[in-house]
Amino acid sequence: MRLIDHFIAGGTGGLVSPRKGDVFDPNNGGVQAQVVLGDAAVLQRAVDAALAAQPAWAATNPQRRARVMFRFKELVEANMDELARLLSAEHGKVIADSKGDIQRGLEVVEFACGIPHVLKGEFTQGAGPGIDVYSFRQPIGIGAGITPFNFPGMIPLWMSAIAIATGNAFIIKPSERDPSVPVRLAELFIEAGLPEGICQVVHGDKEMVDAILDHPAIGAVSFVGSSDIAHYVYNRGVAAGKRVQAMGGAKNHGIVMPDADLDQVVNDLAGAAFGSAGERCMALPVVVPVGADTAERLKAKLIPAIEALKVGISTDPEAHYGPVVTQAHKEKIEGWIAKCVEEGGELIIDGRGFKLQGHEDGFFVGPTLIDHVTPDMDSYHNEIFGPVLQIVRADGFEEALSLASKHQYGNGVALFTRNGRAAREFAARVNVGMVGINVPIPVPVAYHTFGGWKRSAFGDTNQHGMEGVKFWTKVKTVTQRWPDGSAELGNAFVIPTMG
Ligand code: NAD
Repeated sequence: MRLIDHFIAGGTGGLVSPRKGDVFDPNNGGVQAQVVLGDAAVLQRAVDAALAAQPAWAATNPQRRARVMFRFKELVEANMDELARLLSAEHGKVIADSKGDIQRGLEVVEFACGIPHVLKGEFTQGAGPGIDVYSFRQPIGIGAGITPFNFPGMIPLWMSAIAIATGNAFIIKPSERDPSVPVRLAELFIEAGLPEGICQVVHGDKEMVDAILDHPAIGAVSFVGSSDIAHYVYNRGVAAGKRVQAMGGAKNHGIVMPDADLDQVVNDLAGAAFGSAGERCMALPVVVPVGADTAERLKAKLIPAIEALKVGISTDPEAHYGPVVTQAHKEKIEGWIAKCVEEGGELIIDGRGFKLQGHEDGFFVGPTLIDHVTPDMDSYHNEIFGPVLQIVRADGFEEALSLASKHQYGNGVALFTRNGRAAREFAARVNVGMVGINVPIPVPVAYHTFGGWKRSAFGDTNQHGMEGVKFWTKVKTVTQRWPDGSAELGNAFVIPTMG
């Protein structure tokens, strides 16, 4: 059986990890590989390699660091087919979607190619007599990333590209469900000319995560995953004196105003609710039609669109989406569907028990539509993370706005309307971090920043863009004086002022 090993100092690190985890084949069920589950000793090996390599990398001028990013981008592009196949085989998303996953990450690599420009500091000449002040950003030293299963290409690239381009050594602990793509990316970094020890991969579960959070040499930890774990990671990392950003779960609302173009909305919803089997933190699993008439018109158009969706294996070019990641996750999704019905939801399309011919043991869940879901239901309050669309009806704009604003999660939200005034007001007032106006999945471009509000993110900096640069660097400010002897230097016992 294939064994997925750590990637330390450009190789496997020469350590045997006795614990191993199963990596499943979501298309067919069963185990396709095993991943080693490391511990503090494995992490120490990676930290030692990082400590040895990082000072020289930080001293490499930013233009040379950027050249490695350019070469890395070309290598990822050249290997896109292989990477996408690997990603689909472990995650279950269809190949075109896996390419999109990697491409969204590559866009952050493109941003990182411009790192010499964004690392330019600030300078004030003549802040006082003979005094100049300048500020510049320096790397943290060693940074770590802990990532979820659902974007095994994009999220490791969000973190690694900026952490590395800014001069850090970076250690990634990918999801143990689909760990192969981050290893392949680390290998491509070395091929692109990155020194060994600057991008490393350690595998594991809670034991490895705790070792990362407690290690005194790791100065910054970026986490993406579910909210309870994000909160735990944030608290433990901060208690250990680290800089931590921890992105959590989501339950994004798509609000449909009576004047919206319903054909376009249905098209958008089909992709945003069911694409990648709903396993996206920016999916739209809740639709809020405003007014009973909008709800009925929308439902009439949604039903045939959902019934026409094709579920298939991840290599099927015709499939709209593939299996979910594990049998346990399939059971959890089906459990939430049952719970929602028990709570009074009206089941319109039931995806439970879906079997794909020839792949009966695969982890498939059919598309599911549930109407008359209400805010007091647990199944509304919680993230289902599957191909399930819940309809929550609202009487007016204010009610719809307040649903999204009051939900425990605040990652993304979308408003569908032709009314610019309503859109403007919605964007200003909604209590959510990323807003789409007639854009169903408002994931910001790489040079802006990604991050939710409320229980969707702990910490105060976002991923990528300038927020990413700030997270992976610390600012140093130098005040220098070269007196020419003409001015009185004042009393050294009084706090200096510019008065
Ligand atoms: P998860 O929280 O189970 O796992 C995330 C990481 O935490 C993994 O690397 C895992 O090994 C580790 N982990 C798991 N249990 C742990 C524990 N008890 N202690 C310490 N570490 C632990 O998340 P997942 O199922 O892999 O991913 C799906 C979740 O991620 C969803 O909630 C989704 O909304 C969220 N997500 C959020 C964003 C965002 O940017 N807000 C993006 C993608 C995914």
